[in-house]
Amino acid sequence: MAEILIVEDEPSINELIRKNLCLAGHHCTRVFDGMEAIILLDQKKFDLILLDIMLPGADGYEVFEKIQGTPVIFLTAKSELSDKLRGLNRGADDYITKPFQMLELAARVEAVLRRTKKTENYFELDNVRLDFERRLILVDGKPVDCTPKEYDLFDTLVRNRNIALSRERLLELVWGYDFDGGTRTVDVHIQRLRAKLGLEERIITVYKLGYRLEAPV
Ligand code: CA
Repeated sequence: MAEILIVEDEPSINELIRKNLCLAGHHCTRVFDGMEAIILLDQKKFDLILLDIMLPGADGYEVFEKIQGTPVIFLTAKSELSDKLRGLNRGADDYITKPFQMLELAARVEAVLRRTKKTENYFELDNVRLDFERRLILVDGKPVDCTPKEYDLFDTLVRNRNIALSRERLLELVWGYDFDGGTRTVDVHIQRLRAKLGLEERIITVYKLGYRLEAPV
């Protein structure tokens, strides 16, 4: 779990980001104004800041100048993607252009947190443990014999936990765009994972869509 500050003046985008990052197990603080962000950053430490550019009070660049040592992902409209941001980006950790997919944002957030070691290198659910560094899944402390694809599938479910993923999206994320097999492949792998990990109650079938890993937040 990471402490994330969302600086975005558009209420609907701000709320959407908060909702998704909370579901992924993070704690989010929201502000809608650049000045407010600067004041808050004086008082509180965050693990990551999501920072819009065009903001009332003070713009994203001004806020960025006040940030020391905290990773930043800029949220920017394509039209705002100026040379200034490209220059700043050497100091920032990443930027993402609006409109963006929530999954993409979640992946960027996890990547930055991982790189800056603000996130755990394992994930635990019931008696199952996913060890990201050793690429191992353990049940009751014992490594489970699973294929690389089964590992990748579980890893993807964990990183997007509590989010419903369509079979097509899972195919894309785990098997890649050029995979020829159908979505049945996903079902087969899900069945095997459920059985091997004993997570029948946790890996939920989402009617007419796909699957979701349910984990307490
Ligand atoms: Ca804005």
